[in-house]
Amino acid sequence: MSTSKQAASPVTLAEQQAALAGQGIRYVFAQFTDIHGGAKGKLIPLAHLDDIVSPGAGFSGPSIWGTGLPRTGPRSEYYGRADLSTLQPMPWLPGYARVALDGHVAGQPFEVCPRQILRRQVARLAQRGWTLNAGLEPEFFLLQRGPNGYDAEPGDTLEKPSYDSKSLLRRRSFLEKLTASLDACGLGVFQIDHEDATGQFEVNYRYADALKAADNFMLFKMAAHHIAEEEGMLFSMMPKPFADRPGSGLHFHLSLADEAGKPVFPADQDARGLGMSALAYHFMAGLLHHAPALTALCAPTVNSYKRLMCGQSLSGTSWAPAFIGYGNNNRTTVARVVYQRIEWRLPDSSANPYLALAGVIAAGLDGIDRKLDAGDPVNLDVYEMSDAERTALGLEILPQNLGVATAALKADTVLGEALGTAFVDEFVALKSAEWIEYSQQVSAWETARYLERF
Ligand code: GLU
Ligand code: MG
Repeated sequence: MSTSKQAASPVTLAEQQAALAGQGIRYVFAQFTDIHGGAKGKLIPLAHLDDIVSPGAGFSGPSIWGTGLPRTGPRSEYYGRADLSTLQPMPWLPGYARVALDGHVAGQPFEVCPRQILRRQVARLAQRGWTLNAGLEPEFFLLQRGPNGYDAEPGDTLEKPSYDSKSLLRRRSFLEKLTASLDACGLGVFQIDHEDATGQFEVNYRYADALKAADNFMLFKMAAHHIAEEEGMLFSMMPKPFADRPGSGLHFHLSLADEAGKPVFPADQDARGLGMSALAYHFMAGLLHHAPALTALCAPTVNSYKRLMCGQSLSGTSWAPAFIGYGNNNRTTVARVVYQRIEWRLPDSSANPYLALAGVIAAGLDGIDRKLDAGDPVNLDVYEMSDAERTALGLEILPQNLGVATAALKADTVLGEALGTAFVDEFVALKSAEWIEYSQQVSAWETARYLERF
C-alpha cells in the first residue's frame, strides 16, 4: 500500500513539501475517482499535506457517487489516503499539485474505491510475477459554441475528416498546451491527430503499468478539461455526441511483462501466425469470454451503445468494435492483435479507467487459469459480413444497450468474485437505474415517427 511505499522511500514528506514549495506549489489537489470516472477531491494547502497521508482526507461517504456508504456510523466517512508516489505539480495550473487518493473506510482499504479495485487485480498479477502494461488511447471531441449549439470549429467540415491537417493545426494552441502539460507530468506524448469525426481528436502518450496508466488518464482528462475551458472550448469525452459521426473510443493496448520487464505475449512459434504466445492467447480468450460483462465496465453509459452499434457514419464507418472476436491488425473486431500486443477496442471515452482495467485483468487471468481457447483469428472485414457469415465464424455481437450489459455483468460470477460483490452490486444498481431512467424518455425521434402514424 502507499504508506509502506513511503516508508521505503528515502524522500521524506517534509522533503517533498520543501521541493514543491521551491517550485511555487501552494496547494495540493487530493484527488479520487468516483464510480463514473469523475475526478473529485479537495484542495489542501501544501503545509497540511501530512493530514492526508494518515488518516487521509475525510469525505462524507454517501456524498460520493457509487460508494453505497451509510449516512451515519463508522462507515459513513470515506478517507482518501494520499499515495505520495503520485504527488506532482499540475503544470496547467501553476501553484497546484495533484496527489491520487486510495479510499479507506473504517481503517480498511475500501472495497468499492475504483483505485483499490484496480490495486487488488494488479496485486493478483504481481503474485505471478506479472505486470500489465497498458497504453490508453483517448479520443475526444473539442467543440465550441455556435448557432446550433456545440460543434466543431466552422472550418472542420470534411466528409472524411481523419488526419485533417487544417483543422488539427487550427487547434494547435489547445493541443500544444495539453502536450506541454502532459509531458511535464512525464506522460510522453508521441502522436496527436484529427480523428474520423469533425471536432474529434486523439492524443497518444506512452504506456505505463495499469495503475499508473489509470492515474495518468485522470491527469489527461483534468488537464484537457481545464485547458479547453481556458481556450473557450468544450472538451468532451461523451462517447457519441453526434448520431451521424463516429464515437470516441479509449482503446487499451495491452501486454504482460515478467519480473524482469520482458514482454510475455510475443513468441517466435505461433501456428496462428500472429507471433503471440500461448499465454497471450489464453489472456485474450479470457477477454473474449467475459466480453459481455466487460462491456458494462468499458462502455458504461446509455450513450456508449450508440457508438458500439455497427452501422454507417458520415465518414463511411464507425470503427467501433461490435463483434466478439480477434484478428491480425483487424479494427473491425473487439480485439486487434498488433505489434505482438492486444489492442482491446471495447472501452469508450466514458469508461472509468480503474474499473475497466481491473475488469480486463480479472478476465485475462481467468483465461490464463482455465486455459481458455481464443479460437482462430478472423482476418476479414467483419462489418462487411452478413449475419449468417458472422454466425458461421462464431462472432457474437456485444451487448447493444446498457441494460443488457449490466445484466451480463451481474451474471458473471468470475468477474463478480474478482472485483467484489459490494462493488458489482453498487455498480449494477446505479447502471440499471440509469438504463431504466433513459428507457422512460420519449425522444424526438419517437414523436416524429409515431405521433401522426398511429
Ligand atoms: N473512433 C473509433 C472508436 O470508437 C476508433 C477509431 C480508430 O480505430 O482509431 O472506437
Ligand atoms: Mg483512434
